[in-house]
Amino acid sequence: MERYGLRAKKSLGQNFLTDLNVLSKIVSAADVGPEDNVIEIGPGIGALTEQLALAAGQVVALEVDTSLLPVLDEVLGEYDNVKVINQDVLDVDIAALIDREFDDPSKPVKVVANLPYYITTPILLQLLNTEVKWSKIVVMLQKEVAQRLAANPGTKAYGTLSLTVQYKMDAELAFEVPRTVFVPSPNVDSAIVSLEPRKKELAVKPDDEKLLFRLIKGCFSHRRKTLSNNLQSVLGKGAEIKKQSLQLLEDLNISPTIRPESLSLDQFILLANQLKQRNL
Ligand code: SAM
Repeated sequence: MERYGLRAKKSLGQNFLTDLNVLSKIVSAADVGPEDNVIEIGPGIGALTEQLALAAGQVVALEVDTSLLPVLDEVLGEYDNVKVINQDVLDVDIAALIDREFDDPSKPVKVVANLPYYITTPILLQLLNTEVKWSKIVVMLQKEVAQRLAANPGTKAYGTLSLTVQYKMDAELAFEVPRTVFVPSPNVDSAIVSLEPRKKELAVKPDDEKLLFRLIKGCFSHRRKTLSNNLQSVLGKGAEIKKQSLQLLEDLNISPTIRPESLSLDQFILLANQLKQRNL
């Protein structure tokens, strides 16, 4: 970067990883092989990209910072299975990108990335809201966010993000990475999360996904309140609503005094389905 007169841009979340040991652990966690099409978000100066190029069939890397392109050219020039695209990932139609850029789009597609932390959640939602059948998504995130993704009911980290991700994927915290291995060093520690399509189907399917996520968001808007109080804030005030929502919880065998983080995804789905059925 010095040779190119460049400095890491904080505003773009540029904390570069050059530790070969950590880089190869990420590639192993993603189990990248010659049959894989890999999308990397934010190749930076290409250290992870190079390891991916060595392991994968094809790599497509999306980098928003135009000034890094000459560095990427130099680092990746000898690999003919890598293409760098100078675009903001949030502006990209990911499904169309896969069809357009990979020689054989029907091969397994993985995302492997050290994400820019300022837009971690929008990127994850973008990846989860496409129709793409991901083979794996292995990403480096801020440790606290990684813990939220993989959190189980009843824990402090469990909430809307856990449920949103786990609705589609099995999430596992692969390993933690100290801030000291990045250049420049960020103010937070990081962790690698591995997401794979759910192995176990949901016990119940939601009748209305939008309602389900409105309910989840509403129930977690006041984590310290009881489920019953949160539910009433979602449904609206009034004695009749209160009576109906208490009845609903009783019918589902859910205690009204528990906190929202005690409910599993299946229970939230049951609850949302009942709200719809009872026109609440
Ligand atoms: N992959 C490199 C590494 O591991 O060292 C860099 C990771 S750095 C944490 C995040 C990268 O994402 C930076 O290169 C940054 O320029 C890029 N980036 C930031 N916002 C982006 C966006 N909206 N679209 C694509 N890339 C972005």
